[in-house]
Amino acid sequence: MKFIDEYRNVELGKKLINRIDQLSTKPARLMEFCGGHTVAIMRNGLRQLLPQTVEMLSGPGCPVCVTANADIDKTIALSHLPNVIIATFGDMIKVPGSYSSLQQARAAGSDIRIVYSTQDALQIARDNPEKSVIFIGIGFETTTPTIAASILQAEKEEVKNFYVICLLKLCPPVMKTLLDLGEIRIDGIICPGHVSTIIGSRPYEFIPNDYGISCVVSGFEPLDILLSVEMLVEQIESGKPRVEIAYRRGVKPEGNRKALELMDSVFEVSDANWRGIGVIPASGLELRENYKRFNAETAFPVVLEPVREAKGCICGDILRGTKTPADCKLFRRVCLPEHPVGPCMVSSEGACAAYYQYGVD
Ligand code: SF4
Repeated sequence: MKFIDEYRNVELGKKLINRIDQLSTKPARLMEFCGGHTVAIMRNGLRQLLPQTVEMLSGPGCPVCVTANADIDKTIALSHLPNVIIATFGDMIKVPGSYSSLQQARAAGSDIRIVYSTQDALQIARDNPEKSVIFIGIGFETTTPTIAASILQAEKEEVKNFYVICLLKLCPPVMKTLLDLGEIRIDGIICPGHVSTIIGSRPYEFIPNDYGISCVVSGFEPLDILLSVEMLVEQIESGKPRVEIAYRRGVKPEGNRKALELMDSVFEVSDANWRGIGVIPASGLELRENYKRFNAETAFPVVLEPVREAKGCICGDILRGTKTPADCKLFRRVCLPEHPVGPCMVSSEGACAAYYQYGVD
């Protein structure tokens, strides 16, 4: 198949659903790790089309959602500093921190600009040499190479007023943590497609080997996801868990070597703070010694008020897969996309936003 609408072909979709129906005899609880998959599943009504034996569960793969309140508070505090411009991806602006949001800070006078790439942020720095430009670096392995490239570019051009607050996170360590927590039964994982274009499928090998759980790397179109479910069901039925790639047009087992080298040249592995889980060792990235001067946290130390979590918000539980948005008392009543209480209602990849938008309870 060459064109995107071919991955939305209804007849092929029906065939895959029939095949899953025929194959599936045992309960199969599948976690879609990635928020992009949650949205695609909801948008296409895939949950309702699968047999009762197959249950889908949302995971923690939304970078905005997993950013801890303490880190959001830091970005807001940085925005209050004089002569600072904050550059951020759009989803972050409405996310409530402990006391306010970047949107509220902007309304109160902070200079906060939405960008579509780190290159945009770097351009703002070039255009405003008298100001300090801080890019909020959130994301998983997918975003990291572009942030690394912008830092290398800033270094090359000697852009002295460009900084990054490094909130980057790694997927395989949080998968391992979820499995070690043992709070939920998972039979199979739909592994993230975009992340895997960078890291490949090999970093997931520990999941079938150590936990006996099946893994399939999936793309984001309805047929990609149905094919992945079929492959997972086949693995579960045969009792032979392994890592497979359904998203062959984007992912190789070894990943993208160039992007990995780029990441590795600028960042090193560090601990990271995840919403709903806490600090996970070696699950994030920080700037290597050579690039420390770009670190906004050390360049602009800020004093923070104690961290507060929004009362009644269960985003943390949803990200760990122990609850769904429908379990939240605030869902649809108090928490709405116009007045989000937690990040899962803000982000375009958030489970609460997807449940809300596609009318799922
Ligand atoms: Fe948090 Fe709102 Fe989701 Fe409830 S519905 S978990 S308050 S984001």
